[in-house]
Amino acid sequence: MEKTAIKGGEFLIRDTDAQDIFIPEEWNEEQQMIAQTCKDFIETEVFPHLDELDSQKNPDLMPSLLDKAGELGLLGTSVPESLGGFGMSFNTTMLVSEATGRGYSFAVAISAHTGIGTLPILYYGNEEQKQKYVTKLATGEWKAAYCLTEPDAGSDANSGKTKAVLSEDGKHYLITGQKMWITNGGFADVFIVFAKIDDDKKLSAFIIEKSFGGITMNEEEKKMGIKGSSTRQIFFNDCKVPVENLLSERENGFKIAVNILNVGRIKLGAGSLGGAKESITEAVKYANERKQFGKSLNEFGAIKHKIAEMTLKVYASIGAHYRAGQNIDDAYDKFVADGMEPGPARLKSLEEFAIECAILKVHGSEVLDYVVDEAVQIGGGMGYSADGPFDRGYRDSRINRIFEGTNEINRMLTIDMLLKKAMKGQLDIMGPAQAVAQELVSVPSFGDDGDEALFAKEKKVLKNLKKAGLMVAGAAVQKLMQKLGDEQEILMNLADMLSEGYVAESVLLRVEKLVSMRGEDACQVEIDMARVFLHHAVDVAVASGKEAIFAFAEGDELRLMLMGLKRFTKIEPMNLKDARRRIADYVIEKNEYPF
Ligand SMILES: Cc1cc2nc3c(=O)[nH]c(=O)nc-3n(C[C@H](O)[C@H](O)[C@H](O)COP(=O)(O)OP(=O)(O)OC[C@H]3O[C@@H](n4cnc5c(N)ncnc54)[C@H](O)[C@@H]3O)c2cc1C
Repeated sequence: MEKTAIKGGEFLIRDTDAQDIFIPEEWNEEQQMIAQTCKDFIETEVFPHLDELDSQKNPDLMPSLLDKAGELGLLGTSVPESLGGFGMSFNTTMLVSEATGRGYSFAVAISAHTGIGTLPILYYGNEEQKQKYVTKLATGEWKAAYCLTEPDAGSDANSGKTKAVLSEDGKHYLITGQKMWITNGGFADVFIVFAKIDDDKKLSAFIIEKSFGGITMNEEEKKMGIKGSSTRQIFFNDCKVPVENLLSERENGFKIAVNILNVGRIKLGAGSLGGAKESITEAVKYANERKQFGKSLNEFGAIKHKIAEMTLKVYASIGAHYRAGQNIDDAYDKFVADGMEPGPARLKSLEEFAIECAILKVHGSEVLDYVVDEAVQIGGGMGYSADGPFDRGYRDSRINRIFEGTNEINRMLTIDMLLKKAMKGQLDIMGPAQAVAQELVSVPSFGDDGDEALFAKEKKVLKNLKKAGLMVAGAAVQKLMQKLGDEQEILMNLADMLSEGYVAESVLLRVEKLVSMRGEDACQVEIDMARVFLHHAVDVAVASGKEAIFAFAEGDELRLMLMGLKRFTKIEPMNLKDARRRIADYVIEKNEYPF
């Protein structure tokens, strides 16, 4: 655990010691075995059936794959042993998400079942509900779906119209309404359904068994990708739900929905990166085999550039996920040590790092989109062929930026949550932001202090990047006050600065720790990746920072802030092309994503 545990969002104003973070190179033997089991399962049970799954001709196929995953224990990783699961750490369950994330539609089905389908009951159910449902969900005997979205209530989830009315004898709620885009809808036995009781303003949550009756559904949705995943519109018509199936308390549904999505978000990021690794492997294999102009594709600089960029983005992003995952586990351990029950402790630890969860959902899903797009490009015509190895990944990737909160909503949430923490006094952002504003009008100290330690210079760049973020955010808050919420373009800019900075810091810390474990000579490629990624983060800070400053500042203030931005985004030039070639050559030699 970190010396004084870091708080959620605090990375912006606090340095972290490399030794205090978890890095993926530290997975123990058991965790590696779990990941291998998942990978083997995907390879032997899922990959041979991908076309059949996508054809949707056999509706029993996906549930039967989930049954097999259940037999292997893959559905119970988050569930405590007392409820028939394995009670693994949060980070280990993220590793499972990453390893199953290679499974295309199957990845969506398993993550909906184990995540948004099971966790509401696990975290918010009473003992009876947990015994009745979670035990069956952990083994796969029953399958779950999560019904929040409605035709007119998507991002604005609390505006749903589904109604719950108490029956005259007071024993049942009668639920009526329409839910849309429900993953696993076609075969689920249990539905977590969000509805408003009477004229309540806020949602309540219910556990509904298919056998309760009053449930009908449309045919499977025709989708751009993840075609093998069941997605249905579901109609509840006076569906009779016993009162004891209200989950948690009346009007607590929106909170449940949001908190469960926090868990889903960071896992979605990890799963996306599992898919991205698969895609890189396919692309590198293809580049190694295909010849044009008498040469392998892998000899062309333009292709090397792609392979390096794909790899280093995944490497940086996945490290950030497990850094945050460990922070969540550490916070959980502390809450439990302080006497909190495991369920609430898990939720509180996730809530604490909700900013990082939102950042990483966006980052992981956008890295995946970048990777699958470049994989298609490396494939050329074969990249575009439905018979080649790339098209499914390309089509299946796109959904990740839409569900579990669209990436726009998550970007806004990132800044909103940060500012709320600041306003509640949980995070002192305005103090450091004011200090940066002061620094702007002081004379800059130039020159090098001669520190030759690995990443000494890069860490200064990172420190300055944080200052750039604080400068722009602080000035935007001061200038626009309450109106900042309406200036979404600026919120997007701030979120991008923040997230790229977080991931850049994570990759520097990961590699620094790795070097301390293996020595510098053994980590040359990783050092290159960290340095190139830092350059990206600087580029994003320059572009997004400028956009934001132009949007709210003018005259002297504008000029001063632009000077500040220039000062805080200085980075020593390096030959990025050569660094990328070294990275690409390493990956090309390994003929797969090698980290
Ligand atoms: C394949 C698939 C599976 C799904 N599975 C499930 C499931 O299992 N359970 C479930 O409950 N839901 C599920 N969903 C629904 C999904 O979560 C929603 O589609 C998503 O939240 C977006 O809602 P929407 O489609 O209504 O889009 P809208 O909310 O209409 O958004 C459209 C666009 O407008 C933007 N936008 C919306 N509001 C704002 C705002 N305030 N400011 C700025 N921009 C905004 C969005 O970012 C987006 O770009 C699934 C969807 C799909 C496609």
